[in-house]
Amino acid sequence: MNRKYRKTVIAGNWKMNKTPTETKAFMTEFKTIMPRGRWCDVALCVPAVCIPAAVRTMRETRIGIGAENCNANASGAYTGEIAANMLLDAGCKYVILGHSERRAMGETDADVNAKVLAALNAGLTPIMCCGESLEQRQSGITTEWITMQIKLGLAGVPEDKIRKVIIAYEPIWAIGTGKTATAEQAAEVCTFIRTTVRHLYGARIARSITIQYGGSMKPANAAELLAQPDIDGGLIGGAALKPDQFVDI
Ligand code: PEP
Repeated sequence: MNRKYRKTVIAGNWKMNKTPTETKAFMTEFKTIMPRGRWCDVALCVPAVCIPAAVRTMRETRIGIGAENCNANASGAYTGEIAANMLLDAGCKYVILGHSERRAMGETDADVNAKVLAALNAGLTPIMCCGESLEQRQSGITTEWITMQIKLGLAGVPEDKIRKVIIAYEPIWAIGTGKTATAEQAAEVCTFIRTTVRHLYGARIARSITIQYGGSMKPANAAELLAQPDIDGGLIGGAALKPDQFVDI
């Protein structure tokens, strides 16, 4: 990480775990053991129904609450969906977009792009995920794949809004598998992502963008991953479900 130029952001992704009651218990414990230092921003992205409990419990803290998805439209006949401005009004600061688990349910790069634009218009910070499968890595197309995801995902994002976007590099083969990318593998792709952003927006903006690594990050490997110059934080699944483990990271 490079804290001179950009924010370090440690974000949890709870996926479809915890009820509102469990959320309140987690946040209450987390608040008491969370160190007071200001060396990074901390976010917890939780299931939609848990947002009110999370926001209420963390009201007087610096922990940002986020959602795990949003709809690209501002309102309308989209039964079961949630718009970005609704998340903002509910107290969210962040929204995870384009997670590989949602892409596996059919979300395309065009969908991700529309959601990124909607999140930015509403005033949310999108955490836009990208990452290759094991087959793509083994066939040597990781960088091409990531370039495509970044270019399509950020299409139409204006220069004055791009600094707000966080990019999370999450190799699919490392998510929830216990198989972490080595620090070198993660660093190589995160540096490549910054280069791609530089080609799109120039050096000054590329230098200021926060790029996270996600994929089985835990207390035992976080320090080495976060020591890489182009890794500015983590998107954390499993280890964000236990307050003590998340605090350790
Ligand atoms: C994730 O789902 O974003 C993730 C990184 O999960 P895990 O940390 O469990 O691999």
